[in-house]
Amino acid sequence: MRKISDPHHFMKLNIDYQEKFQQRHIAPNEADTAEMLQTVGVNTIDELISQTVPQKIRLKAPLNLPVAKSEFDYLNDLKQTASKNKVFKNYIGQGYYDVIVPGVIQRNILENPGWYTQYTPYQAEIAQGRLQALLNFQTMVLDLTGMEIANASLLDEGTAAAEAMFMQYSLRKNQQAKVFFVSEELFPQTIDILKTRAQPYGIELQIGDHREVELNNQMFGAIVQYPAGSGAVYNYSGFAADAHTKGIKLTVVADIMSLVLLTPPGEWGADIVVGSTQRFGIPMGFGGPHAAFFATKDEYKRSMPGRIIGVTIDSAGNYALRMALQTREQHIRRDKATSNICTAQALLAIMAGMYAAYHGPQGLKLIAERIHGLTILLSKALTALGYEQQNDVYFDTLKFELGDLAAPIHGQAINNEMNLHYTGSSVTISLDETTSVEDVKTIIRFFAKVKAKSLNDIAFDDLKEDIETVIPAGLQRQSAYLTHQVFNAHHSEHEMLRYIKSLEAKDLSLCHSMIALGSCTMKLNATTEMVPVTWAEFSKMHPFAPVDQVGGYMEIFDELNKWLSEITGFAAMSLQPNAGAQGEYAGLMVIRAYHQDRGDRHRNIALIPSSAHGTNPASAAMAGMKIVVVKCDDNGNIDVADLKAKAEQYQNDLSCLMVTYPSTHGVFEESIIEICQIIHQNGGQVYMDGANMNAQVGLTSPANIGADVCHLNLHKTFCIPHGGGGPGMGPIGVAKHLVPYLPGHAVVDIDQGKSISAVSSAPWGSASILLISHAYIAMMGPDGLTNATKYAILNANYIKARLEKHFPVLYAGANGRCAHEMILDCRSFKSAGIEVTDIAKRLMDYGFHAPTVSFPVAGTVMVEPTESEPKHELDRFCNAMIAIRHEIEDVANGTMDKLDNPLKNSPHTAAVITGNDWAHPYTRQKAAFPLAYVAAHKFWPSVGRVNDTYGDRTLICTCPPMEEYEFEESVLE
Ligand SMILES: *Cc1c(COP(=O)(O)O)cnc(C)c1O
Repeated sequence: MRKISDPHHFMKLNIDYQEKFQQRHIAPNEADTAEMLQTVGVNTIDELISQTVPQKIRLKAPLNLPVAKSEFDYLNDLKQTASKNKVFKNYIGQGYYDVIVPGVIQRNILENPGWYTQYTPYQAEIAQGRLQALLNFQTMVLDLTGMEIANASLLDEGTAAAEAMFMQYSLRKNQQAKVFFVSEELFPQTIDILKTRAQPYGIELQIGDHREVELNNQMFGAIVQYPAGSGAVYNYSGFAADAHTKGIKLTVVADIMSLVLLTPPGEWGADIVVGSTQRFGIPMGFGGPHAAFFATKDEYKRSMPGRIIGVTIDSAGNYALRMALQTREQHIRRDKATSNICTAQALLAIMAGMYAAYHGPQGLKLIAERIHGLTILLSKALTALGYEQQNDVYFDTLKFELGDLAAPIHGQAINNEMNLHYTGSSVTISLDETTSVEDVKTIIRFFAKVKAKSLNDIAFDDLKEDIETVIPAGLQRQSAYLTHQVFNAHHSEHEMLRYIKSLEAKDLSLCHSMIALGSCTMKLNATTEMVPVTWAEFSKMHPFAPVDQVGGYMEIFDELNKWLSEITGFAAMSLQPNAGAQGEYAGLMVIRAYHQDRGDRHRNIALIPSSAHGTNPASAAMAGMKIVVVKCDDNGNIDVADLKAKAEQYQNDLSCLMVTYPSTHGVFEESIIEICQIIHQNGGQVYMDGANMNAQVGLTSPANIGADVCHLNLHKTFCIPHGGGGPGMGPIGVAKHLVPYLPGHAVVDIDQGKSISAVSSAPWGSASILLISHAYIAMMGPDGLTNATKYAILNANYIKARLEKHFPVLYAGANGRCAHEMILDCRSFKSAGIEVTDIAKRLMDYGFHAPTVSFPVAGTVMVEPTESEPKHELDRFCNAMIAIRHEIEDVANGTMDKLDNPLKNSPHTAAVITGNDWAHPYTRQKAAFPLAYVAAHKFWPSVGRVNDTYGDRTLICTCPPMEEYEFEESVLE
């Protein structure tokens, strides 16, 4: 027993304690911070910041944001907000359908950091899992569309259609042809996006009825939808043949689920097929994220936008995957780019491919048949009640002209918590895989009620008896699909679970180690931020649901809009762009609209520094701008004299400057304010690429520096995970004078007065993942966000301090500090025969993903640790880099062989290390366990170095059939 004199008895208890999320998000603790500051050579973190961020651009006041909430409180409060979203049954359709997400996929992919914290698979050797999953997606798309080559993947259906239009435009033979025929039966949001994209190129959209249009040689392309927006399924084969005889290419927007039952467009003449894979197990999420697909003919593969996964071999000659045609990636092609797509929707494409693998061809057929069958049942019943169904041939959508009954039907539907799609006095009803016979009955009941009838009047049970398809024989799918083994082997949950896990195990993610990708900001994606994304109140919302059902989302968007405006210093945001590059495009289109509105129609020159990210010139080209490159000086800063000269030279035609800040070289340029002034003096606007916002939040801001527009990569600075190459969000902030031009939407009224047309299919883009950024800001609060920036800068300068003795650090600020990232120069190792790629691949043997390779400077790596990495992780990385530096030295001084060394042979697989033959002049231990920590937690690359040239020479972009490729079965799975 404790004696009464025990001092504990008098201990005071602190009941005010509240756990702070920022202490979870920002990793370095007090002791580590002290050591790091010492290494860096400053006394306090604020001293470092004042040496790093120029005084004249610092914010004068702290961010005006609500105080931080704990994780626990945030989720509790969010439940309240969520309850303001009304989860009705949605038969709205229009490109968005309710789904049943297989639990095994939801938990093990969508909700699993092993998948969602991965980066885009540039480092193929440690990304074979997602590359395989994306190859499955491509194979699925090809099979279902009947096309020859597909990418993985695009942002949404509307932008995919716009990419298709542009590809047709680029491929046109007759340079005079400027007209693009658009079927009026496309979904309105798709037409809206086509309008936006057509405008800068002077492409003329001719919108009409495909049955009546006279195709002519002024047209370079045409686009139709299958099934059409009304739900009608047309036989377009005559139209396609007519188009082809006139040299017109044809794009078909197709519903992926319907293709299970319908003749695929590839079999009746489509040149390009695009669409959304949302209904393959991806929640609606109030608009996204979902993966769009793009499939075309083999002959057009070099013009295809987006990333293509291809089969190749590794250094041992084994099956391996990689992103094909990588040298043609958009950032290399710059203003010659066919598209600006960078971040797409990898995670969602992976899920859709898994959905197909889980159900297989038979399972999908059952699902599609059920949807189709219930739709027929509904049609029969409502017809029996005296309603006139307008679609003769349909898959899942019925159309009724209701006349006076429209209002009462609408009222009844609402009473039954069901949303239908109303246009004037007509209504469409789209069923989906969640629809039950009971649901159908409910709809019939209220349609009956409005006519003072009941279910009994129509002998419902008899109607149910023999349901026959309404699809005519000529449009019924005959060809087989999903015949590959991958779609026929994982139909039990155990098999699926193990398949998902086997792929996950091949991929390095933030679950394993720091991914210090400069410019890409791979920071913590906290679990609490992710949890609400799959709450039904958010995930089951249709983007076109009536306003009075979406109060929760509106509250979140209002707050996020306000908070991001405060953080950027701007007047307002548009939450529509689906990725950073889409934000660039949107922002430039807003600038364009502003100039045009003021009568400055000629202003179309975009000044872009040579160091810019490749999406900048690609987006500028998409916005119809001419690109003039501005030089950078030896320190990586914009050459102000050159900028001034060019701004003055083009002052009559200057549209804007695109500038990244801190620069892509990781430096806070002192001259930025002057740069912005020069642009403004010459009538231009300043577009800031906000990819490096993680170095600004709370310390400075785009508006403070003088920018007019900026996009934010919410998947970088604001914690949306990268998902192995998407999703992301790229909202834009604008100064007051640009607010009226922010993007509108054809279906949901978000008009700002002079809004440009839409840039995404959904009004708030990939709405459901905006929750992640909302959570981050709410839980960090103003001080947490500012501290995050400071620690991002401290962590970077700590790495710089540790590594600069070993690797020359390119560029630094006036006081020798880097911002939140730094460039390590690896070019001098060339004399020893070591390329930067060798370092990137060797890092895998040490358990790390390479930093950004050869951007913005060829032959370098760019390191960005973020605030979320603890000191010991930074040290592990530094130790690995230093050890590699010693290895390079050994090669240089002849201690190690010039060709047969651990760098050149990296990465080393378990198969190589444990093989019976080992003929290298270095040990197996040196190869696979070069530092002690590696042994404690070894991550094995699943293939040796991939062969890029081989892959491009023998481009194969589908799962190869077993018999053609003599790979072991285990490798193929
Ligand atoms: C990431 C990045 C982009 C492109 O963003 P996405 O979301 O991938 O489209 C643009 N500029 C810079 C500097 C970036 O780092």
